[in-house]
Amino acid sequence: MQGLASRASILAIGCLALLLAAFAYAAAPVNVKAVRLWAGPDGTRLVFDLSAPVEHNVLTLQNPDRIVIDISGARVDGASELPEGQGFVKQLRVGPQGRSDLRFVIDLAAPAAPNSFNVAPSGSYGHRLVVDLSPIASNAPPVVVKSADEAHGRDVIVAIDAGHGGVDPGSIGKSGTREKNVTLAIARRLKERIDREPGMRAVLTRDSDYFVELRDRIVRARRQQADMFVSVHADSYRDRSVVGSSVYVLSARGASDESARWLADRENAADLVGGVSLDDKDSVLASVLLDLSQGASMSASFDAAQKVMDELDRIGNVTRRGVKSAGFLVLKSPDIPSILVETAFISNPTEESRLGSSKHQQRLAEAIFQGVRGYFYTNPPPGTLVAQRRSQSRDPAVVASAKGDAGGSGTDQ
Ligand SMILES: [Zn+2]
Repeated sequence: MQGLASRASILAIGCLALLLAAFAYAAAPVNVKAVRLWAGPDGTRLVFDLSAPVEHNVLTLQNPDRIVIDISGARVDGASELPEGQGFVKQLRVGPQGRSDLRFVIDLAAPAAPNSFNVAPSGSYGHRLVVDLSPIASNAPPVVVKSADEAHGRDVIVAIDAGHGGVDPGSIGKSGTREKNVTLAIARRLKERIDREPGMRAVLTRDSDYFVELRDRIVRARRQQADMFVSVHADSYRDRSVVGSSVYVLSARGASDESARWLADRENAADLVGGVSLDDKDSVLASVLLDLSQGASMSASFDAAQKVMDELDRIGNVTRRGVKSAGFLVLKSPDIPSILVETAFISNPTEESRLGSSKHQQRLAEAIFQGVRGYFYTNPPPGTLVAQRRSQSRDPAVVASAKGDAGGSGTDQ
Protein backbone atom coordinates (compact mmCIF):
# COMPACT_ATOMS: atom_id res chain seq x y z
CA MET A 1 0.00 0.00 0.00
CA GLN A 2 1.31 3.38 -0.95
CA GLY A 3 0.28 6.59 0.77
CA LEU A 4 -1.47 9.50 -0.78
CA ALA A 5 1.74 11.46 -1.00
CA SER A 6 3.55 8.94 -3.14
CA ARG A 7 0.72 8.85 -5.65
CA ALA A 8 0.09 12.54 -6.03
CA SER A 9 2.36 14.81 -7.94
CA ILE A 10 5.03 16.72 -6.09
CA LEU A 11 3.10 19.89 -6.78
CA ALA A 12 0.05 18.38 -5.16
CA ILE A 13 2.02 17.45 -2.04
CA GLY A 14 3.22 21.00 -1.59
CA CYS A 15 -0.22 22.39 -2.26
CA LEU A 16 -1.82 19.95 0.11
CA ALA A 17 0.49 21.08 2.90
CA LEU A 18 -0.45 24.70 2.25
CA LEU A 19 -4.06 23.70 2.05
CA LEU A 20 -4.01 21.94 5.39
CA ALA A 21 -2.28 24.94 6.93
CA ALA A 22 -4.89 27.26 5.45
CA PHE A 23 -7.63 25.12 6.88
CA ALA A 24 -6.32 25.52 10.38
CA TYR A 25 -8.12 28.86 10.30
CA ALA A 26 -11.12 27.88 8.19
CA ALA A 27 -14.47 27.14 9.75
CA ALA A 28 -15.39 23.44 9.88
CA PRO A 29 -14.32 22.28 6.43
CA VAL A 30 -15.95 19.20 4.99
CA ASN A 31 -13.69 16.21 5.32
CA VAL A 32 -13.05 14.02 2.29
CA LYS A 33 -12.65 10.80 4.25
CA ALA A 34 -12.01 8.43 1.37
CA VAL A 35 -12.04 8.26 -2.40
CA ARG A 36 -13.22 5.06 -4.04
CA LEU A 37 -13.08 4.04 -7.67
CA TRP A 38 -14.71 1.27 -9.73
CA ALA A 39 -14.50 0.53 -13.41
CA GLY A 40 -17.08 -1.51 -15.28
CA PRO A 41 -17.56 -2.18 -18.97
CA ASP A 42 -19.86 0.80 -19.42
CA GLY A 43 -18.21 3.38 -17.27
CA THR A 44 -16.21 4.34 -14.23
CA ARG A 45 -17.59 5.52 -10.90
CA LEU A 46 -15.74 7.71 -8.46
CA VAL A 47 -17.15 8.08 -4.94
CA PHE A 48 -15.99 10.69 -2.43
CA ASP A 49 -16.92 9.80 1.13
CA LEU A 50 -17.65 13.04 2.95
CA SER A 51 -18.29 14.25 6.47
CA ALA A 52 -21.10 16.52 5.19
CA PRO A 53 -22.78 17.43 1.91
CA VAL A 54 -20.73 19.68 -0.39
CA GLU A 55 -21.12 22.11 -3.22
CA HIS A 56 -19.06 21.15 -6.23
CA ASN A 57 -18.27 22.03 -9.78
CA VAL A 58 -17.18 19.75 -12.63
CA LEU A 59 -15.19 20.90 -15.65
CA THR A 60 -14.16 18.89 -18.70
CA LEU A 61 -10.85 19.90 -20.29
CA GLN A 62 -9.03 18.72 -23.40
CA ASN A 63 -5.43 18.38 -24.58
CA PRO A 64 -4.86 16.34 -22.56
CA ASP A 65 -8.29 14.99 -21.64
CA ARG A 66 -9.05 15.57 -18.00
CA ILE A 67 -11.90 16.31 -15.67
CA VAL A 68 -11.63 18.78 -12.84
CA ILE A 69 -13.80 18.50 -9.74
CA ASP A 70 -13.77 21.49 -7.41
CA ILE A 71 -15.26 20.87 -3.98
CA SER A 72 -16.12 23.92 -1.91
CA GLY A 73 -14.85 24.23 1.65
CA ALA A 74 -13.29 20.81 1.80
CA ARG A 75 -10.11 19.16 2.97
CA VAL A 76 -8.63 15.72 2.52
CA ASP A 77 -8.43 13.47 5.51
CA GLY A 78 -4.71 13.10 6.18
CA ALA A 79 -4.96 9.32 6.31
CA SER A 80 -6.93 8.84 3.14
CA GLU A 81 -5.38 7.43 0.00
CA LEU A 82 -6.17 8.10 -3.60
CA PRO A 83 -7.08 4.97 -5.55
CA GLU A 84 -4.95 3.69 -8.42
CA GLY A 85 -6.26 4.62 -11.84
CA GLN A 86 -8.62 2.22 -13.59
CA GLY A 87 -11.23 2.45 -16.32
CA PHE A 88 -11.44 6.01 -17.60
CA VAL A 89 -9.24 7.24 -14.77
CA LYS A 90 -5.58 7.13 -15.73
CA GLN A 91 -4.56 9.04 -12.63
CA LEU A 92 -6.21 11.01 -9.87
CA ARG A 93 -4.57 14.07 -8.32
CA VAL A 94 -5.60 16.49 -5.63
CA GLY A 95 -4.60 19.99 -4.60
CA PRO A 96 -6.00 23.18 -3.09
CA GLN A 97 -8.17 25.53 -5.09
CA GLY A 98 -8.42 29.11 -3.90
CA ARG A 99 -8.41 29.65 -0.15
CA SER A 100 -10.66 26.88 1.05
CA ASP A 101 -11.63 24.63 -1.82
CA LEU A 102 -10.26 21.32 -2.98
CA ARG A 103 -9.50 20.45 -6.58
CA PHE A 104 -9.39 16.88 -7.82
CA VAL A 105 -8.01 16.36 -11.30
CA ILE A 106 -8.79 13.17 -13.20
CA ASP A 107 -6.33 12.49 -16.00
CA LEU A 108 -8.45 10.53 -18.44
CA ALA A 109 -7.40 7.35 -20.22
CA ALA A 110 -9.99 8.15 -22.92
CA PRO A 111 -12.52 10.96 -23.48
CA ALA A 112 -15.42 10.58 -21.05
CA ALA A 113 -18.55 12.46 -20.08
CA PRO A 114 -18.95 13.22 -16.36
CA ASN A 115 -22.19 13.07 -14.41
CA SER A 116 -21.98 14.10 -10.77
CA PHE A 117 -24.41 14.11 -7.88
CA ASN A 118 -24.59 14.17 -4.10
CA VAL A 119 -25.86 11.14 -2.24
CA ALA A 120 -27.46 11.33 1.20
CA PRO A 121 -26.40 8.91 3.95
CA SER A 122 -27.89 5.44 3.63
CA GLY A 123 -27.22 2.24 5.52
CA SER A 124 -23.57 2.15 6.52
CA TYR A 125 -22.65 4.93 4.09
CA GLY A 126 -22.46 8.61 4.96
CA HIS A 127 -22.64 11.65 2.68
CA ARG A 128 -21.11 11.02 -0.73
CA LEU A 129 -20.32 12.83 -3.92
CA VAL A 130 -20.51 10.51 -6.90
CA VAL A 131 -18.91 11.22 -10.26
CA ASP A 132 -19.78 8.81 -13.06
CA LEU A 133 -17.66 8.78 -16.19
CA SER A 134 -19.25 7.31 -19.26
CA PRO A 135 -18.08 6.93 -22.84
CA ILE A 136 -18.79 9.90 -25.08
CA ALA A 137 -22.01 8.88 -26.81
CA SER A 138 -21.57 7.33 -30.22
CA ASN A 139 -24.15 6.04 -32.63
CA ALA A 140 -22.99 2.46 -32.45
CA PRO A 141 -25.74 0.11 -33.57
CA PRO A 142 -27.16 -2.24 -30.95
CA VAL A 143 -25.87 -5.78 -30.89
CA VAL A 144 -28.22 -7.95 -32.89
CA VAL A 145 -28.34 -11.55 -31.82
CA LYS A 146 -31.64 -12.87 -33.01
CA SER A 147 -30.81 -12.85 -36.73
CA ALA A 148 -28.33 -15.68 -36.31
CA ASP A 149 -29.00 -18.98 -38.03
CA GLU A 150 -32.52 -18.69 -39.34
CA ALA A 151 -32.41 -22.21 -40.78
CA HIS A 152 -32.07 -23.93 -37.45
CA GLY A 153 -34.01 -21.45 -35.45
CA ARG A 154 -32.32 -18.90 -33.29
CA ASP A 155 -31.38 -19.43 -29.69
CA VAL A 156 -33.64 -18.29 -26.92
CA ILE A 157 -31.73 -15.55 -25.09
CA VAL A 158 -31.89 -15.37 -21.32
CA ALA A 159 -30.51 -12.26 -19.64
CA ILE A 160 -29.21 -13.18 -16.19
CA ASP A 161 -28.90 -10.32 -13.78
CA ALA A 162 -26.66 -10.89 -10.77
CA GLY A 163 -28.12 -8.55 -8.17
CA HIS A 164 -26.05 -5.70 -6.69
CA GLY A 165 -22.26 -5.47 -7.22
CA GLY A 166 -19.32 -3.14 -6.72
CA VAL A 167 -20.15 -0.36 -4.28
CA ASP A 168 -23.49 -2.01 -3.52
CA PRO A 169 -22.94 -5.24 -1.54
CA GLY A 170 -26.66 -6.04 -1.23
CA SER A 171 -27.66 -7.75 1.99
CA ILE A 172 -24.93 -9.03 4.28
CA GLY A 173 -25.36 -12.20 6.33
CA LYS A 174 -24.44 -12.59 9.97
CA SER A 175 -21.17 -14.33 9.00
CA GLY A 176 -20.36 -11.62 6.51
CA THR A 177 -21.52 -13.30 3.30
CA ARG A 178 -22.28 -10.58 0.79
CA GLU A 179 -25.29 -10.90 -1.44
CA LYS A 180 -23.44 -9.43 -4.45
CA ASN A 181 -20.92 -12.31 -4.41
CA VAL A 182 -23.55 -15.02 -3.99
CA THR A 183 -25.71 -13.63 -6.80
CA LEU A 184 -22.74 -13.46 -9.16
CA ALA A 185 -21.68 -17.03 -8.37
CA ILE A 186 -25.19 -18.37 -9.00
CA ALA A 187 -25.59 -16.21 -12.12
CA ARG A 188 -22.37 -17.56 -13.60
CA ARG A 189 -23.40 -21.14 -12.90
CA LEU A 190 -26.80 -20.48 -14.41
CA LYS A 191 -25.22 -19.00 -17.53
CA GLU A 192 -22.91 -21.97 -17.87
CA ARG A 193 -25.89 -24.34 -17.56
CA ILE A 194 -28.05 -22.46 -20.04
CA ASP A 195 -25.21 -22.24 -22.57
CA ARG A 196 -24.87 -26.04 -22.47
CA GLU A 197 -28.51 -26.38 -23.52
CA PRO A 198 -29.10 -26.55 -27.29
CA GLY A 199 -31.30 -23.69 -28.43
CA MET A 200 -30.65 -21.55 -25.38
CA ARG A 201 -28.04 -18.93 -24.65
CA ALA A 202 -27.43 -16.66 -21.69
CA VAL A 203 -25.99 -13.19 -21.30
CA LEU A 204 -24.99 -11.60 -18.00
CA THR A 205 -25.83 -8.02 -17.10
CA ARG A 206 -22.63 -8.00 -15.05
CA ASP A 207 -19.87 -10.61 -15.00
CA SER A 208 -17.69 -9.39 -12.20
CA ASP A 209 -17.82 -7.24 -9.09
CA TYR A 210 -18.88 -3.85 -10.38
CA PHE A 211 -21.85 -1.61 -9.93
CA VAL A 212 -24.60 -1.48 -12.57
CA GLU A 213 -27.63 0.74 -12.20
CA LEU A 214 -30.96 -1.05 -12.33
CA ARG A 215 -31.97 0.91 -15.38
CA ASP A 216 -28.78 -0.15 -17.19
CA ARG A 217 -29.48 -3.78 -16.38
CA ILE A 218 -32.69 -3.53 -18.38
CA VAL A 219 -30.90 -1.67 -21.17
CA ARG A 220 -28.29 -4.43 -21.41
CA ALA A 221 -30.94 -7.14 -21.59
CA ARG A 222 -32.78 -5.21 -24.27
CA ARG A 223 -29.60 -4.61 -26.28
CA GLN A 224 -29.10 -8.39 -26.38
CA GLN A 225 -32.74 -8.84 -27.41
CA ALA A 226 -33.36 -11.07 -24.44
CA ASP A 227 -36.42 -13.29 -24.42
CA MET A 228 -36.42 -13.37 -20.65
CA PHE A 229 -34.85 -11.43 -17.81
CA VAL A 230 -33.90 -13.32 -14.64
CA SER A 231 -32.62 -11.29 -11.73
CA VAL A 232 -30.86 -13.32 -9.02
CA HIS A 233 -30.88 -12.13 -5.41
CA ALA A 234 -30.69 -13.35 -1.84
CA ASP A 235 -33.36 -12.24 0.56
CA SER A 236 -32.99 -10.60 3.94
CA TYR A 237 -35.35 -9.92 6.77
CA ARG A 238 -35.25 -8.47 10.27
CA ASP A 239 -36.41 -11.80 11.68
CA ARG A 240 -33.46 -14.16 11.17
CA SER A 241 -35.65 -17.25 11.45
CA VAL A 242 -37.37 -16.52 8.13
CA VAL A 243 -36.22 -18.91 5.37
CA GLY A 244 -37.12 -20.03 1.87
CA SER A 245 -37.12 -18.97 -1.76
CA SER A 246 -39.45 -16.51 -3.41
CA VAL A 247 -39.90 -15.62 -7.05
CA TYR A 248 -41.17 -12.16 -7.87
CA VAL A 249 -42.92 -10.70 -10.87
CA LEU A 250 -43.76 -7.06 -11.36
CA SER A 251 -46.98 -6.10 -9.72
CA ALA A 252 -49.54 -4.14 -11.67
CA ARG A 253 -49.88 -1.58 -8.93
CA GLY A 254 -46.56 -1.71 -7.17
CA ALA A 255 -46.05 -3.80 -4.09
CA SER A 256 -48.89 -6.12 -3.29
CA ASP A 257 -48.24 -6.79 0.34
CA GLU A 258 -46.33 -5.33 3.22
CA SER A 259 -43.22 -7.50 3.09
CA ALA A 260 -43.05 -7.21 -0.68
CA ARG A 261 -43.20 -3.45 -0.39
CA TRP A 262 -40.47 -3.42 2.21
CA LEU A 263 -38.29 -5.58 0.02
CA ALA A 264 -39.01 -3.60 -3.14
CA ASP A 265 -38.05 -0.39 -1.40
CA ARG A 266 -34.81 -1.91 -0.24
CA GLU A 267 -33.84 -3.58 -3.50
CA ASN A 268 -34.63 -0.45 -5.46
CA ALA A 269 -32.87 1.81 -3.00
CA ALA A 270 -29.76 -0.32 -3.16
CA ASP A 271 -29.32 0.78 -6.74
CA LEU A 272 -28.44 4.16 -5.83
CA VAL A 273 -25.21 3.60 -4.07
CA GLY A 274 -27.81 4.33 -1.50
CA GLY A 275 -30.12 7.10 -1.91
CA VAL A 276 -29.87 8.88 -5.24
CA SER A 277 -33.38 9.21 -6.45
CA LEU A 278 -34.13 7.69 -9.80
CA ASP A 279 -37.42 9.55 -9.80
CA ASP A 280 -36.80 11.38 -13.03
CA LYS A 281 -35.73 8.23 -14.83
CA ASP A 282 -38.54 6.37 -13.19
CA SER A 283 -41.17 8.69 -14.52
CA VAL A 284 -39.94 8.14 -18.08
CA LEU A 285 -40.05 4.44 -17.48
CA ALA A 286 -43.47 4.74 -15.90
CA SER A 287 -44.88 6.54 -18.90
CA VAL A 288 -43.43 3.90 -21.20
CA LEU A 289 -45.12 1.32 -19.07
CA LEU A 290 -48.43 3.10 -19.27
CA ASP A 291 -48.20 3.43 -23.01
CA LEU A 292 -47.31 -0.13 -23.80
CA SER A 293 -49.55 -3.04 -23.21
CA GLN A 294 -47.76 -5.03 -20.62
CA GLY A 295 -50.43 -7.62 -20.04
CA ALA A 296 -48.94 -10.37 -22.18
CA SER A 297 -45.49 -9.90 -20.75
CA MET A 298 -46.79 -9.94 -17.19
CA SER A 299 -48.71 -13.14 -17.65
CA ALA A 300 -45.66 -14.75 -19.28
CA SER A 301 -43.59 -13.56 -16.36
CA PHE A 302 -46.01 -15.18 -13.96
CA ASP A 303 -45.89 -18.51 -15.84
CA ALA A 304 -42.11 -18.49 -15.81
CA ALA A 305 -41.98 -17.50 -12.14
CA GLN A 306 -44.34 -20.34 -11.27
CA LYS A 307 -42.12 -22.88 -13.05
CA VAL A 308 -38.98 -21.62 -11.37
CA MET A 309 -40.74 -21.65 -8.01
CA ASP A 310 -41.79 -25.28 -8.56
CA GLU A 311 -38.20 -26.25 -9.28
CA LEU A 312 -36.90 -24.41 -6.24
CA ASP A 313 -39.45 -26.26 -4.13
CA ARG A 314 -38.04 -29.54 -5.39
CA ILE A 315 -34.58 -28.86 -4.07
CA GLY A 316 -35.86 -28.80 -0.56
CA ASN A 317 -36.54 -25.29 0.56
CA VAL A 318 -38.17 -25.51 3.94
CA THR A 319 -40.84 -22.94 3.32
CA ARG A 320 -42.87 -22.47 0.22
CA ARG A 321 -43.03 -18.74 -0.19
CA GLY A 322 -44.45 -18.81 -3.67
CA VAL A 323 -44.71 -16.34 -6.51
CA LYS A 324 -45.15 -12.77 -5.34
CA SER A 325 -45.39 -9.46 -7.01
CA ALA A 326 -43.64 -6.20 -6.19
CA GLY A 327 -42.59 -2.98 -7.85
CA PHE A 328 -38.98 -3.92 -8.59
CA LEU A 329 -37.43 -1.56 -11.05
CA VAL A 330 -35.49 -4.34 -12.80
CA LEU A 331 -38.74 -6.10 -13.62
CA LYS A 332 -40.15 -3.12 -15.47
CA SER A 333 -39.28 -4.12 -19.02
CA PRO A 334 -42.56 -3.62 -20.81
CA ASP A 335 -41.98 -6.39 -23.32
CA ILE A 336 -39.51 -8.87 -21.80
CA PRO A 337 -40.94 -11.41 -19.37
CA SER A 338 -39.01 -10.70 -16.19
CA ILE A 339 -38.63 -12.51 -12.90
CA LEU A 340 -36.64 -11.86 -9.76
CA VAL A 341 -35.50 -14.88 -7.78
CA GLU A 342 -34.81 -14.44 -4.08
CA THR A 343 -32.87 -17.68 -3.80
CA ALA A 344 -32.82 -17.90 0.00
CA PHE A 345 -32.53 -15.73 3.09
CA ILE A 346 -28.97 -14.58 3.62
CA SER A 347 -30.20 -13.19 6.95
CA ASN A 348 -30.83 -16.75 8.17
CA PRO A 349 -27.55 -18.32 9.34
CA THR A 350 -28.35 -21.79 7.91
CA GLU A 351 -29.35 -20.42 4.53
CA GLU A 352 -26.41 -18.03 4.55
CA SER A 353 -24.03 -20.96 4.83
CA ARG A 354 -25.86 -22.90 2.11
CA LEU A 355 -25.70 -19.86 -0.17
CA GLY A 356 -21.95 -19.83 0.24
CA SER A 357 -21.54 -23.47 -0.76
CA SER A 358 -20.71 -24.12 -4.41
CA LYS A 359 -22.77 -27.31 -4.34
CA HIS A 360 -25.89 -25.47 -3.27
CA GLN A 361 -25.21 -22.61 -5.69
CA GLN A 362 -25.13 -25.19 -8.47
CA ARG A 363 -28.37 -26.74 -7.23
CA LEU A 364 -30.05 -23.33 -7.25
CA ALA A 365 -28.72 -22.58 -10.74
CA GLU A 366 -29.98 -25.95 -11.98
CA ALA A 367 -33.43 -25.34 -10.49
CA ILE A 368 -33.71 -21.90 -12.06
CA PHE A 369 -32.49 -23.32 -15.36
CA GLN A 370 -35.08 -26.12 -15.34
CA GLY A 371 -37.86 -23.66 -14.57
CA VAL A 372 -36.81 -21.27 -17.34
CA ARG A 373 -36.35 -24.14 -19.79
CA GLY A 374 -39.74 -25.54 -18.91
CA TYR A 375 -41.29 -22.15 -19.53
CA PHE A 376 -39.75 -21.86 -23.01
CA TYR A 377 -40.83 -25.36 -24.00
CA THR A 378 -44.37 -24.44 -22.98
CA ASN A 379 -44.24 -20.98 -24.60
CA PRO A 380 -41.57 -21.12 -27.32
CA PRO A 381 -40.85 -17.77 -29.00
CA PRO A 382 -41.51 -18.04 -32.78
CA GLY A 383 -38.43 -18.66 -34.92
CA THR A 384 -36.42 -20.35 -32.20
CA LEU A 385 -34.86 -23.78 -32.19
CA VAL A 386 -36.98 -24.49 -29.15
CA ALA A 387 -40.12 -23.71 -31.18
CA GLN A 388 -38.93 -26.06 -33.96
CA ARG A 389 -38.25 -28.85 -31.51
CA ARG A 390 -41.66 -28.39 -29.98
CA SER A 391 -43.49 -28.49 -33.31
CA GLN A 392 -41.45 -31.42 -34.71
CA SER A 393 -42.28 -33.63 -31.82
CA ARG A 394 -45.66 -35.32 -31.60
CA ASP A 395 -45.25 -35.49 -27.91
CA PRO A 396 -43.81 -32.25 -26.58
CA ALA A 397 -43.15 -33.87 -23.25
CA VAL A 398 -40.58 -36.13 -24.94
CA VAL A 399 -38.70 -33.11 -26.20
CA ALA A 400 -39.10 -31.36 -22.93
CA SER A 401 -37.59 -34.24 -21.02
CA ALA A 402 -34.96 -35.18 -23.59
CA LYS A 403 -32.19 -33.63 -21.53
CA GLY A 404 -32.66 -36.20 -18.82
CA ASP A 405 -34.85 -34.18 -16.52
CA ALA A 406 -38.45 -33.39 -17.23
CA GLY A 407 -37.94 -30.15 -15.39
CA GLY A 408 -40.89 -27.89 -14.92
CA SER A 409 -42.27 -28.81 -18.31
CA GLY A 410 -42.89 -32.51 -17.87
CA THR A 411 -45.70 -32.20 -15.41
CA ASP A 412 -48.05 -30.00 -17.37
CA GLN A 413 -47.71 -31.14 -20.95
ZN1 LIG B 1 -30.92 -8.14 -3.55
